[in-house]
Amino acid sequence: MNILVINAGSSSLKYQLLDPETQKVLAKGLCERIGIDGKFTYKPEGKEAIKEADVAMPTHNEAIKAVLDALADPKNGVIGSMEEIDAVGHRVVHGGEKFAQSVLITDEVMAAIEECDPLAPLHNPANIIGIKACQALMPGTPMVAVFDTAFHQTMPPVAYTYALPYEYYETDKVRRYGFHGTSHKYVAQRAAAMLGKPIEELKLISCHLGNGSSVTAVDSGKSVDTSMGFTPLAGLPMGTRTGDIDAGILEYLMGRYDMDIKEMLSVMNKKSGVLGISGVSSDFRDLEKAGEEGNARAALAVQVFEYGVKKLIGSYAAAMGGVDAVIFTAGVGENGGGNRASIVSGLEFMGIKIDPEKNKVRGEEIDISAEGATVRTLVIPTNEELMIAIDTAALAK
Ligand code: AMP
Repeated sequence: MNILVINAGSSSLKYQLLDPETQKVLAKGLCERIGIDGKFTYKPEGKEAIKEADVAMPTHNEAIKAVLDALADPKNGVIGSMEEIDAVGHRVVHGGEKFAQSVLITDEVMAAIEECDPLAPLHNPANIIGIKACQALMPGTPMVAVFDTAFHQTMPPVAYTYALPYEYYETDKVRRYGFHGTSHKYVAQRAAAMLGKPIEELKLISCHLGNGSSVTAVDSGKSVDTSMGFTPLAGLPMGTRTGDIDAGILEYLMGRYDMDIKEMLSVMNKKSGVLGISGVSSDFRDLEKAGEEGNARAALAVQVFEYGVKKLIGSYAAAMGGVDAVIFTAGVGENGGGNRASIVSGLEFMGIKIDPEKNKVRGEEIDISAEGATVRTLVIPTNEELMIAIDTAALAK
């Protein structure tokens, strides 16, 4: 079965054509600067990537058309025609409380996704534009929405309720939702396979550490708590986002620097996190280098991040009454051996101990636990596209 996976942003669109059964990726790529000067990247399996600039893409419709043309191109295409695409899986950021699972897209579902727009005003409208563009060009092809929030809908009220007046939850849906759900779900399933145990018998802590980061407690295959909140600004300090800070700081800084709430939120989303602390970069590789060269603020930024992850591992073990395995995934989790070592150092009392040699491995599925560790530590490359394709294929059948 050929599944086209689409991740549409406001001016970009990532795509991948893959077969979830064989896990073979036939082609993937990216449309950038949609509505500006259109950049197109297409990489068929086993061949060099093709990059084109100044491709006419005034809207997402032209971008999708360019993707479909490239996929069925007689020279570099990977399918004979568009009819060989069996279904399309769309990443949708926010499903609110309406969607605890992926769904086949109908008119009613589209309306319900649109109702979630206020919860993710930067992301959901772009996701919807991507869906509509595909529907226009592929009217007979089943479309599925896969939500970043869905996996976390199993969280109990004690984990998702904020200590605000309860009406804000009842009337305005203000609660913890959590994000990166597709990634946490995928790595939790892989962890169960690696450990050779049914997921229902496992307590897992999944650390998705990248430019955006979140940690999730997965008990019996279900998300029971997660560090992101009502928005993806919450939880850990990230590349450029604050993570959790004292809300009282907002009024204090807005008063001192005459900022309105938009400016304050822009600082918190774009100028904070490890970039803000270090003043160097949001990229963990740059920070590692700067830290080694003696930049104390770069080193501190990484330490604040690692300390945050360590505290979440401890608190989620407490929340679940134990833990069988800690999973590291995403850019930093998969590649940053030094970051992993710092995060778990001092957690030996919990039974977490990693093997320094195994910890040198990058970007592949591996159990890096040391001998005698009673809690496993796993590195698992995430694969959100595959998870989306698996859900899409199951619903489209
Ligand atoms: P992601 O958002 O999952 O693509 O992750 C991006 C982050 O992963 C960036 O901050 C990268 O610097 C980081 N990353 C990639 N490779 C490494 C590495 N070898 N060591 C530490 N961080 C890395």
